[in-house]
Amino acid sequence: MAYIVALDQGTTSSRAILFNEKGSILGIQQKEFPQYFPHSGWVEHDPQEIWNTQFEVFKALLKVSEISPEDITAIGITNQRETTVVWDRRTGEPVYKAIVWQDKRTSDYCEQLKSDGHEAIIRSKTGLVIDSYFSGTKIHWMLENVKGARELAEAGHLCFGTIDTWLVWRLTKGEVHATDYTNASRTMMYNIVENRWDEELLKMLNVPASMLPEAHPSSYHFGDFDYEGVKIPIMGIAGDQQAALFGQACFEPGDAKNTYGTGCFMLMNTGNQCEISKSGLLTTMACSVGDELTYALEGSIFIAGAAIQWLRDALRVIDDASDSEYFATQVDTNDVYLVPAFAGLGAPYWDQYSRGAIFGLTRDTGKNHIIKAALQSIAYQTRDVKSAMEQDSGIALNTLMVDGGATANDYLMQFQSDILGTEVDRPEITESTALGAAYLAGLTAGVWTLEEIKKVRKTERKFTPNISKSERDKLYKNWQKAVERTFNWSKEE
Ligand code: ADP
Repeated sequence: MAYIVALDQGTTSSRAILFNEKGSILGIQQKEFPQYFPHSGWVEHDPQEIWNTQFEVFKALLKVSEISPEDITAIGITNQRETTVVWDRRTGEPVYKAIVWQDKRTSDYCEQLKSDGHEAIIRSKTGLVIDSYFSGTKIHWMLENVKGARELAEAGHLCFGTIDTWLVWRLTKGEVHATDYTNASRTMMYNIVENRWDEELLKMLNVPASMLPEAHPSSYHFGDFDYEGVKIPIMGIAGDQQAALFGQACFEPGDAKNTYGTGCFMLMNTGNQCEISKSGLLTTMACSVGDELTYALEGSIFIAGAAIQWLRDALRVIDDASDSEYFATQVDTNDVYLVPAFAGLGAPYWDQYSRGAIFGLTRDTGKNHIIKAALQSIAYQTRDVKSAMEQDSGIALNTLMVDGGATANDYLMQFQSDILGTEVDRPEITESTALGAAYLAGLTAGVWTLEEIKKVRKTERKFTPNISKSERDKLYKNWQKAVERTFNWSKEE
């Protein structure tokens, strides 16, 4: 019997999940922690609360599952990405709260970096766009604004870490300061082409190299969790989206997954090709196993499941998100289009001035048409990102692996397959993120091989395209027409 524990440190809660060697879930413990919003646009977490909740759910998992620490073969970690912690290596005390990925306080600094002409160099080295989302400008802010931080950093006393790094530091009682490539590639300081921290970028952001963790492949023995005298090896780390890609067994170039939550996160494995996107996608590192580097293209959609929440909470045409399926199937036509650009449009359009709109209304349009159009908009946006990925990589999408709350909707999944013209594969275990962390740890520990993991992943249901190519092209063309008409809507003339 092998037991693997995945520590899944998310934006709103910390979870610990117990897997056996078949990849089945034996137990889950979860604890939420507070979110702090000190100013408009600022979002913070308390690193101590992150650690405490993560440690508590780990202890509770062992207790409820009646296993002892000796029974655990390995631990895997997956985490909210980009969120930034800085602490003093002598005391382990954070110098400030964690600045969360959603935090916008460095937007002006990002604008300055852009107007200083740094965009192209950052794009070519990191695969990212300049944005407050990524860790680099958050560290810069702390060093500039937290009293005494700059001096401590220059003296070599401060450590930077994304959440995985902070957890490893705490788990190993300060012995290990490390991260994995997937997390490093979200900092805007990591050169993903040359696979190293980049001195030029560090200089640009004025971050001392002494603050940085060592970066390793995702499948690696990072150190040991010293728990009640037992050493439990930490054998896998990946940022949440890359962990989900791995958990969906997307190991080959062209394998892709999409997570349907509030927004959508779609990633495509591009193998050892580091493609810098020409279509507005991000290039990022995927989970690397051994010496071979693995890359992925990433596209995010701001509003996906959130459009269904909007139907429920603002329009009040459904009581529950799951009701959307029934109402959508009461309509035969596909003539109404809803573009949910409530917060502008992300990949591949990147128009912050676009706003939501509904097109194709006639005298007989009713609420069911609008509900159907909202579900379809999730599928159309996914098609937009898929097309961009195929264009950038030159690789055709095989099958789309799916997970996340909205994949429970069979109508949406079928329409997704119809509009992509590819199979959509929904797994039995939709906890792809935690599963990915467990797979990585089990792989390093020798519990299974990549081939075995592929067999462990079980499909719950496959959706296959059910409309003709001409029908698909017609529907999609109208979607593109609708999207175009929302461009620049909120821009002052
Ligand atoms: P997150 O992790 O972003 O909170 P989840 O994976 O929990 O998201 O998914 C929740 C989202 O999915 C919500 O936005 C909700 O509106 C949507 N959703 C949940 N169930 C359905 C359903 N059956 N049909 C369509 N959308 C759904």
